[in-house]
Amino acid sequence: MTINEVILCKYGEVILKGANRATFEAALIKELRRRASHYGLFEVYGKQSTVFIIPKNDECDMDGMYEAAKRVFGIVGVNRAAVCDKNMESIKALAREYLPLKLLGKKTFKVEAKRSDKRFPLKSPEISAEIGGVILSTVKGIRVNVHSPEVTVTVEVRDEHAYIRAGQEPGAGGLPPRSAGRGLLLLSGGIDSPVAGLMMAKRGMEIEALHFESFPYTSERALEKVMDLASLMCEYTSKMYVHTISLTHIQEEIRDKCTEDYFTLLLRVFMMRLSERLAKEYKCSALVTGESLGQVASQTLGALGVTDAEVSIPVFRPCIGLDKEEIITYARQYGTLETSILPYEDCCTVFTPRHPKTQPKPELVAAELAKLDVDALLEEAYATKKTEVKLIYPEYR
Ligand code: ATP
Ligand code: MG
Repeated sequence: MTINEVILCKYGEVILKGANRATFEAALIKELRRRASHYGLFEVYGKQSTVFIIPKNDECDMDGMYEAAKRVFGIVGVNRAAVCDKNMESIKALAREYLPLKLLGKKTFKVEAKRSDKRFPLKSPEISAEIGGVILSTVKGIRVNVHSPEVTVTVEVRDEHAYIRAGQEPGAGGLPPRSAGRGLLLLSGGIDSPVAGLMMAKRGMEIEALHFESFPYTSERALEKVMDLASLMCEYTSKMYVHTISLTHIQEEIRDKCTEDYFTLLLRVFMMRLSERLAKEYKCSALVTGESLGQVASQTLGALGVTDAEVSIPVFRPCIGLDKEEIITYARQYGTLETSILPYEDCCTVFTPRHPKTQPKPELVAAELAKLDVDALLEEAYATKKTEVKLIYPEYR
């Protein structure tokens, strides 16, 4: 018997959307269709709170598509299921063929049956009992454990077909890509900012990135690392514009003319103003940073108050209440940690003051800024802007 497998993706929060549900659903399906086109000829459609991904020939890369689906925000569960006709004989025959391999080496299982077609002659507990019997007679040594089974076998009788699967993996969660506006991520080479960007992407925000470099104080390799991080983020976001702006002259001017204790804070004032300008040019309605309260001197409440006051668009700091260990856990989960911990310098780590101000007075910040030709420096820095696009799938261009 030939077994036809499909990939099923379970909607997450999309199901809670009322009148807007269709828009969110469309965003989810669009993303999965684009990804699928990279892995072969698939049919992709949404039905009954599930996205069905159906291979149309043997050349389809099911493993590749499956892994890609796990990184699409908006989905809470991904599984591979075998399909058959909607009658008990076919379901049992499929279970006999399909499940022994899937349950190889497993010690305990339970069967859950779901019937969205209520005209199906057997009720859910009856389907479960029958399929449980098939498993017990075909899989050696396996036992039933309804409370904490090693694997849950699910039989779903839906509108057109029946589906059998053994287990389900978690999806990326959140809301579909590009369903919640666009934000500009201030992307350093550190651990926190890629996580911050992905946390907002998870809530449906389209992320564009801005990195500040400071050649020759920061190296070519440091910039490559940031670009590598952006590429890793694309595993989830699929596509990302990465802008770079040079802060070299601004930093030299601050170093030459201002009080040392204020170096970092002044630099951050310039970063915020340049970020807001770029955000407006590229239609991003918010800034996103990887700041976490109290992590360093520039992330005290006082310092954040000073930098926040510099801009008129919202600044999102999704890591604000997370401990470093928690941020690291996310970075590991998103696959950015290993690259983030490579030891390269950042513009924030050149000319760092020995005693940075942790409780800065806004009027003293203003007095320090008055020592500089701020407008000319901003103009000059903005003119160094360069833009690159990062993508995982060529068809995103
Ligand atoms: P990260 O937070 O990514 O680990 P970090 O811990 O070195 O970097 P800071 O240097 O204090 O943190 O920076 C705080 C935030 O400011 C970063 O999370 C990032 O959003 C932004 N930022 C810092 N450096 C840069 C840079 N070179 N370009 C763009 N944004 C930056
Ligand atoms: Mg940080």
